[in-house]
Amino acid sequence: SQTFDVIIVGAGSMGMSAGYYLARRGVRTLMIDAFDPPHEEGSHHGDTRLIRHAYSGGAAYVALALEADRSWRDLEEESGQRLLVRSGVLNMADRTQGRFQQRIQDAQGAGVRVERLDADEINRRWPGIRLPHSYEAMYEPDAGYLHSERCIAAYRKLALAEGAMLLPYTRVQHIEADGGAVRVLTRVGDFAADRLILTAGAWFPSLQPFVTLPIRAVRKTVGWFQSEPGLFDTGAFPGFTLAADNGGYYGFPSIAGGGVKIGRHDGGLPWRPGETPVPFGHCREDESDLRRTLEAFMPQAAGRLVSSAVCKYELTPDEHFIIDKHPAHENVIVAGGFSGHGFKFSSAVGKALAELALGKRPSVDLGLFALSRFDTTAIGGENL
Ligand code: FAD
Repeated sequence: SQTFDVIIVGAGSMGMSAGYYLARRGVRTLMIDAFDPPHEEGSHHGDTRLIRHAYSGGAAYVALALEADRSWRDLEEESGQRLLVRSGVLNMADRTQGRFQQRIQDAQGAGVRVERLDADEINRRWPGIRLPHSYEAMYEPDAGYLHSERCIAAYRKLALAEGAMLLPYTRVQHIEADGGAVRVLTRVGDFAADRLILTAGAWFPSLQPFVTLPIRAVRKTVGWFQSEPGLFDTGAFPGFTLAADNGGYYGFPSIAGGGVKIGRHDGGLPWRPGETPVPFGHCREDESDLRRTLEAFMPQAAGRLVSSAVCKYELTPDEHFIIDKHPAHENVIVAGGFSGHGFKFSSAVGKALAELALGKRPSVDLGLFALSRFDTTAIGGENL
């Protein structure tokens, strides 16, 4: 079998970034992916992902978001491509939820610009929005969105230019590890390395019994709706999150006339690796749920459904990530369970994974993401 310093299983959002950071340090790196990334079988397609820095969940997230933002700027420079658009992001919620106090404190502590706005001010600044008076918002002017597939394609190109190898359309079928080395089995052959990084996204359950993580994959849908020209276009309209009475939504301005994109964060049908997800529109509420929300809060963006996508979340029980060593194998690192909010961090996470794989202390605090916070014996500990 061919031998490498590091093998990465899953060259998607996290894996491709890790591959780039390893290759540029001269580490002999093999990335293996079941598809040809970027692709539509994982969690990273659909053109855009929000990047926010004023985060709920603690100051560690804010620091990670800022580190990620710096790394995205580096990637833009190195690839010569525009990947991050600072449209601003408006976070809206009912006043009674008291959502923003802690977030604003954490953000301001880290030097992130945020504004607290009432409904009148929001409706005045963005005339496409019709927010009830019981709502308020936190606006982050330096936040925005990333072109997710372009980001992965940029990391891919640079990683390969630095000497990394990528095996596309190759599913890892079996993994063996002992103290010194790992062996990865595929239909095109076996590969060996000193270290292994597992970044399999929604497909993590298929890597059992080698690794068993508390990750539940669900089908998610997004729709692009025709919107009034001018009001909702990039440059005039921000990205948004909306905590409505019935659930949490997020969305993007209309890019090049493509329509406002909206998705729902909570809920979703269970999905198992290998299954074909139910296509958009085959579940009764796919379109109507999104449309109702637009009609209530942005009625001039509730036009014809222009396009749609089906994607996957991989949820941990607390929706925080898992970035840690394998409990039984020091030389295996796992990074998964990005729970519908991981993409923005993938630049910083890839860098941290490269540091971990090289036995270095990561430059960002990963304490929040330790696997030991879960009772892994309850989820098949005998397999760990
Ligand atoms: P992926 O990017 O899916 O990569 C996993 C890779 O592993 C895939 O390429 C897969 O083919 C490969 N793989 C799996 N098993 C094997 C195997 N056995 N052998 C070989 N290869 C394998 N995040 C944000 O920050 N902001 C947002 O606004 C946002 N919105 C989202 C909206 C939607 C609809 C969805 C679905 C996600 C959203 N996210 C958002 C979340 C973010 O996109 C994910 O957290 C992130 O893409 C997860 O990255 P990953 O590397 O874990 O998974």
